[in-house]
Amino acid sequence: MNDANMAKIAGEIESYLRRLFPVCRSITGNGNRETLRTLQELIPLTLHEVASGTQVYDWTIPDEWNIRDAWIAAPEGRRIVDFNVSNLHVVSYSNPVRGRFTWVELQPHLHTHPSLPDAIPYRTSYYRRDWGFCLTHAQYRELEQHGGPFEIVIDSTLEPGSLTYGELLLPGQSKQEILLSCYICHPSMANDSLSGVLLTAFLARELLARTDRRYSYRIAFVPETIGAITYCARNETAMQQIDTGLVITTVGGPGKFGYKQSFESSHAINRLIEDVLCEAGVDYLTYPFDIHGSDERQYSSQGFRINAATLCRDRYYEYPQYHTSLDNLDFVTGKQIAETLALYIRLIDKLEARRIYRNRIPNCEVMLSRHDLYPATGGAQRPELGGRSELDLILWLLFLCDGKLDMNAIARRLAVSLDTLITIADKLVSRGALEAA
Ligand code: ZN
Repeated sequence: MNDANMAKIAGEIESYLRRLFPVCRSITGNGNRETLRTLQELIPLTLHEVASGTQVYDWTIPDEWNIRDAWIAAPEGRRIVDFNVSNLHVVSYSNPVRGRFTWVELQPHLHTHPSLPDAIPYRTSYYRRDWGFCLTHAQYRELEQHGGPFEIVIDSTLEPGSLTYGELLLPGQSKQEILLSCYICHPSMANDSLSGVLLTAFLARELLARTDRRYSYRIAFVPETIGAITYCARNETAMQQIDTGLVITTVGGPGKFGYKQSFESSHAINRLIEDVLCEAGVDYLTYPFDIHGSDERQYSSQGFRINAATLCRDRYYEYPQYHTSLDNLDFVTGKQIAETLALYIRLIDKLEARRIYRNRIPNCEVMLSRHDLYPATGGAQRPELGGRSELDLILWLLFLCDGKLDMNAIARRLAVSLDTLITIADKLVSRGALEAA
């Protein structure tokens, strides 16, 4: 992206950020549909609905939750806590409630942030029927001093409906798919969830515009955990064929870039991300794979084993505003998301440019002379081949080209320039010993 293009995309992202930030999303509900329909302005997403009660592996899709309004009001009617000010004020998946409560009755349903007095914390109760409010320390004190009784209203519904997810499949020259996944389930927070949703949508738009895609792309907009599990269950065969994925989240903060490695630290996706970050000249943090995290927990599970990595900026868990109302539009900007998007585009460029070969004669050694591959110079070492002989490189290529390892990785391993190696690989292709994978 050049600077003018970057500024234009940053502006576009910013406008979608402002439109989608106020929407109340959860693991199900109309907020998710509204979000996905808005993204349909950018990309031709297909929306899928999966009914409540559907079994997906060890999980069951819960009832659908929708909320219209909620408040805690003093007896004279003044709202002390108001859902219209922030949708984080209500614990996600709260039961409907309507009644008068004393302070003692209300207090167990209140949540504050232990270390950020001005923040409204983010709480959920998806699988245990409950209700609650999240508030600042000042609001908590006001309620405590007032003593009640208070009028409590949570105008929500929790009843059979469906879970919604969005999907875009982009075919490429190869049937081999790359998985791009983001989660759509967070209410008004900007870095956690929404930044990843917007980056994925704009990355998908970029991929859509390319007519020469080498790989096919499977792009999923799912509620975290239950949505990713649902997606795996409904696309089991296709997902089991995938080797490489990106879980795109927390990409819009002002802080350091970082990346969470996929479960095999030596996998190409990790090396490519490091190359992108190094070439961009940015300082970055490396998070080794961990079983805690986002939807790589599902995609890398034993049934799928997709190497899914995350290139991020102010990663989840790490920034103080995480899971609070302070993860807002002061913290996240369209420009910051666009900067991370530029890195994802470079990563895709690198993935697409990978050259991978497969040995066509994998059983035992190739009889080189039969294919006119035995070098006339025999075993002479040549400086232009990194001090190795041509024979040596031919044998290494036949040994290493397994249809998975790319030529960059092989060049690194053999300490030979990529151009040298590709020249020899092309010769092996012309003699029928290798084929492009
Ligand atoms: Zn989160």
